[in-house]
Amino acid sequence: MRKRLLAALLSITVVGILLLAALFTDIFYDNSVESAKNQLRVYMNFFDVSAPFTQESAETYAEKTGARVTFMQADGTVVADSFAPVQGETREDREEVRAAIAQGEGFAVRESDTVGENMIYYCVRIDGGGSVPAGSLVRVGITLNTGLSFFVDALPTIVWFLVLDILCCLIFAWLLTSAVLKPVEDLTKEFATASGKEVWTKYAELKPLAKLMNEMNADIGDKVARIKEDIRIEKLVLDSMEHGIAIFRTPSDVILINKTAARLLNYEENEPVPLFSEDQEVADVLASGESASLYRKIGEKDYNFRFTLGEPNVLLITDVTESMAAARSKNEFIANVTHEMNTPLTSIKGFAELIGAGAVPPERIQGMAKTIIKQSDRLANLIRSIINFSAIDSDELPDYEVNVSELIAELIGGFEPKLRQKNIALRMDVEQGVKVMSRRERLVEILNNLVSNGIRYNKEGGSLEISLTGGKQPRLVVRDTGIGLSAEDKTRIFDRFYTVDKSHNGAGGGFGLGLAIVKKLCLRAGWELKVESTLGEGTAFIIDFCQKKEQ
Ligand code: ADP
Repeated sequence: MRKRLLAALLSITVVGILLLAALFTDIFYDNSVESAKNQLRVYMNFFDVSAPFTQESAETYAEKTGARVTFMQADGTVVADSFAPVQGETREDREEVRAAIAQGEGFAVRESDTVGENMIYYCVRIDGGGSVPAGSLVRVGITLNTGLSFFVDALPTIVWFLVLDILCCLIFAWLLTSAVLKPVEDLTKEFATASGKEVWTKYAELKPLAKLMNEMNADIGDKVARIKEDIRIEKLVLDSMEHGIAIFRTPSDVILINKTAARLLNYEENEPVPLFSEDQEVADVLASGESASLYRKIGEKDYNFRFTLGEPNVLLITDVTESMAAARSKNEFIANVTHEMNTPLTSIKGFAELIGAGAVPPERIQGMAKTIIKQSDRLANLIRSIINFSAIDSDELPDYEVNVSELIAELIGGFEPKLRQKNIALRMDVEQGVKVMSRRERLVEILNNLVSNGIRYNKEGGSLEISLTGGKQPRLVVRDTGIGLSAEDKTRIFDRFYTVDKSHNGAGGGFGLGLAIVKKLCLRAGWELKVESTLGEGTAFIIDFCQKKEQ
């Protein structure tokens, strides 16, 4: 603003000074022409008509006046000239000469061809008398400054004026802008330090500006409050996320990190993220600039580290413990099923090929056919167990009240032959009318598995006890005096396909799916399943039919 004001002031005053100088030069020039004319009239008065009209007389006259003197005949032919030998030449064409011939006198200003300077001439016609022939012309001329030479003479003064003008303009512009800007500067300072307070000015012209500033202040205050609230909510959302998220430019320039990621990465504020440099594979990913996904075990859990690299980089940490365990368990399950199927299938195929090739004596064919049927039954059992096991997950049928006491009485008859076969004494301690919320087929599955295991893994002449108590929390106990379980086996018998003695698989024993099914059914129903066992002495399975909590 100061500069613009200075430029405006300077251009106005400089143009003014120059115009004034030109005007004064013109006035001075006109004045000098007028005074030169008067001077020439005075010189003309010195002309003596009685003196001879000769060169010598012209020179005397010129000496006396200091002017150039020219004598001419009535037609303008030069008779004598004090400055140059131009006798005989005509000056009829000169403006002052023409005027004198016509009107008796004439003035003219011009650059003289003969003298080579700017001259003013005064020419008079002498109409007779003395020794001068009538009609003769007398001309006097003196040098005259041109307008430009007046200007050149005045130039140093003009330059001084300009310098003075620039100084004045500088001071004036500074004072003026200071006076105008000071209130604005004061107002701006107040606005900058207002921090929410209203600004005020005593100058009426600045009041609209102050009002605008106050409105802006209020608006900014609102916006800042909104942004702060948004940031608070975003942080809340991020911190409550079970996934970890970190946004960073470099390992030591972390823009944003939520609680989960900070905990998993051992991140300390204003410190570089340790994992990014300590874990070579992670460091390699960051150095490569290519987005990548890595798996890391932290404590007991498995995590997926997904790096999306760019500007900035994003790391998303997901807990994949369950999905990895599920994948592992699925693989194990498939491997176990394949293994269990392979044995009967190999045997069936082998015998069938032998029979087909006619390489088996007729008396052995019947025995082989029995083996094929036995192995087929085994395969069918396995498939049925797998179907039962898988069906539990998709069983969405509604529960109803099942009388467990009646169900035990119904089922137990089916076990009589096996009990007799092993000479096992059955003891029943079943309270009547005990009911639980479930489905008949699920309880049949549980009872069948527990009772058949109690017989299968019992000793010859052992005993099997089934007890059922009612009340608020009914309890079923199936206790045998069989081979029992080691401490390690006790923890594993509920795993799928786990059997203590593999040699029994499929023949005397099952495939290790029975207890896995029992456990799954109990889990789904919310019942508590426990096992008590001493190796060599016997085992007891206990189910507490807890009331399922309403979700
Ligand atoms: P299986 O069909 O092989 O019996 P289970 O899942 O029912 O499969 O049982 C798993 C394993 O637990 C059995 O192979 C057996 O070794 C052991 N087991 C089950 N019940 C008893 C029991 N009452 N006494 C001793 N061991 C048992």
